Amino acid sequence: MSQRPGRLAGLTALITGAGRGIGAGIARRFAQEGAVLVLNSRTESDLALLQQEITAAGGQAWIVPADIGTAAGVQAVLAACAKGSGHIDILVHNAGIYPFAAIEQLTDETWQQTMETNLTSAFRLTRGLVAGMRERRFGRLLFTSSVTGNHVVVPGASHYAASKAGLNGFLRAAALEFAADGITVNGVEPGLVETPGALAVTTAEERAAMARFVPMKRWGNADDIAGAMLYLASRDAGYVTGQTIVVDGGALLPENGAVML
Ligand code: NAP
Repeated sequence: MSQRPGRLAGLTALITGAGRGIGAGIARRFAQEGAVLVLNSRTESDLALLQQEITAAGGQAWIVPADIGTAAGVQAVLAACAKGSGHIDILVHNAGIYPFAAIEQLTDETWQQTMETNLTSAFRLTRGLVAGMRERRFGRLLFTSSVTGNHVVVPGASHYAASKAGLNGFLRAAALEFAADGITVNGVEPGLVETPGALAVTTAEERAAMARFVPMKRWGNADDIAGAMLYLASRDAGYVTGQTIVVDGGALLPENGAVML
């Protein structure tokens, strides 16, 4: 298959959590910009549908269903990458879960699953991919972080907040370790983004009420996040590392929520 033109032409990207929501938005945008894709999530049917859509539009995508929150799942994804596309230039580790629970009701199992899916996976994927990137002296390690845990918090999200704050710490340390090797490490911190995951934990009334506190008066969409990821993945961001971009419609700006009423 001939190379597609675009800002990511000639590059292969692994995107985790690509079955729906933000990850699917990033996949669509990266495919439009010429990247060859390896798409991961646990639900094979979601991935197959997206693969069909991308292929029909002239793109190229492999699918690798696996639970990225386990060592075996990460291993399976890395093995499939080596076999299918040969190498990975761009990692977008986007898979993440946000099962709400107040601290006193939070089980060890939920804490552990959140950490393994959101944070430990970042370390395992990075460890598995960095040698190839170093050899080619090019790599982009990108993470979907969150404003939660890094700037703001919500009740019931202590485990999620800890995982996303941990992710930012991890990406800064990785950026330093790989800076001399042509590998950049960055993240995007979304605010409120309308995705199947977010729809499952909020009612329409709650979402409308929350939008009133966003200066742009709307929830973000997957494409808003994909635009920031595209910049960080592209050659334009070659001198940017260890950074995160907040994409939140201005939600962090008000000194006090009352100014938005
Ligand atoms: P979503 O609609 O629930 O989609 C999440 C995707 O990740 C799905 O494709 C899901 O598919 C996959 N996934 C979940 N657990 C996985 C696992 N263990 N292994 C592989 N894939 C897994 O969520 P989203 O709102 O798009 O969130 C995407 C990322 O953005 C997350 O990291 C989240 O923390 C972050 N974020 C979201 C918001 C927001 O407002 N939506 C705000 C800030 C940050 P399967 O269930 O089939 O595996």
